[in-house]
Amino acid sequence: MQLHGAIRFLLDPITSELFLPGSILSVYSLASTFVIAVCALAYRHRARRGHASLPAIFRAIFGQRVARHKSFYADVKLVALSLFILPPVMLALVVSAKTVSIATRSLLTNLFGAVGAIEGHNALITAVSTIVLFLAYEIGYFIDHYLKHRVPFLWELHKVHHTAEVLTPLTNYRNHPLDNVIFGYMLSIFMGGASGALTWLFGRDTEIVSIDGKNIIFIVFLWTIGHLQHSQFWIPFGGVWGPIIMSPAHHQIHHSNDPRHYNRNMGSVLAIWDWMMGTLEIPSEENPRLCYGVEGEGRSAHSWIGILVSPLAGSALALWRACRSMKNSLPSATALGSEQKREII
Ligand SMILES: [Zn+2]
Ligand SMILES: [Zn+2]
Repeated sequence: MQLHGAIRFLLDPITSELFLPGSILSVYSLASTFVIAVCALAYRHRARRGHASLPAIFRAIFGQRVARHKSFYADVKLVALSLFILPPVMLALVVSAKTVSIATRSLLTNLFGAVGAIEGHNALITAVSTIVLFLAYEIGYFIDHYLKHRVPFLWELHKVHHTAEVLTPLTNYRNHPLDNVIFGYMLSIFMGGASGALTWLFGRDTEIVSIDGKNIIFIVFLWTIGHLQHSQFWIPFGGVWGPIIMSPAHHQIHHSNDPRHYNRNMGSVLAIWDWMMGTLEIPSEENPRLCYGVEGEGRSAHSWIGILVSPLAGSALALWRACRSMKNSLPSATALGSEQKREII
């Protein structure tokens, strides 16, 4: 019985992640991504060589170079860790998002009174809520990501994602657990706030179009180009779509170790936030053969210590330095006292 329980404990998170249509790593999203990757590569081969060779396309997708790389094994370790650590963390974050939502609703009700806008139009309310919560996620994601590239102690944690030297759909999970927690609380603020505002505006609990609780817009993104952002395939969106949608190539530029690409393309699905903040880099049509990873990090970045312990130590050190330089920049009490005395004399 105990063995049965232990096996269930180990298998449940894995089967849920693989077979729930709304999960990030579902077999359905991976299968649709595979079909899209084959079509994109076939199109490119045909445009270049006049024909598309299926064996060559399969070799490009299942290249040995990626599967044998130490970076890929580090991604696998973090996937395994995420499957068991993330569910309780996410539960805590849902609770905190709910708290933010209730607080926002009561604040707005106290300030402006109760509102019951477009009552009776349930489909319209659900559609508006789906779009607003998607935008709240996008803004929360961008601000969180922007700060993690600008604030040294946050960068030390986020760097784990950037030390990936080969990109596969598993790289999506390559995040330090504390980085995930900070991201989750950032989302709780933005999505909880938006949910509270919607509840106040429409006078009812927020409902969205979803699959397994995940916003349908996010699921569509995941089933089409989401996984390809972490892949070796250069699929750029230019023209009118370049400043709007974050194509796979947009995110690959974000992972580039070329200094010209540092702190570029920090959005998730939409590129408009980068466009507004001046951090957008629209990918070229031709594959520039980017190299990924963080300069000077070396192969130790893929060990357990490199992905879990070093980022914590680096982050604590950066925080200590920030506190020390802040303390040094403040005038001391004695210096302030003698300055005041001089003014009085
Ligand atoms: Zn980043
Ligand atoms: Zn990434």
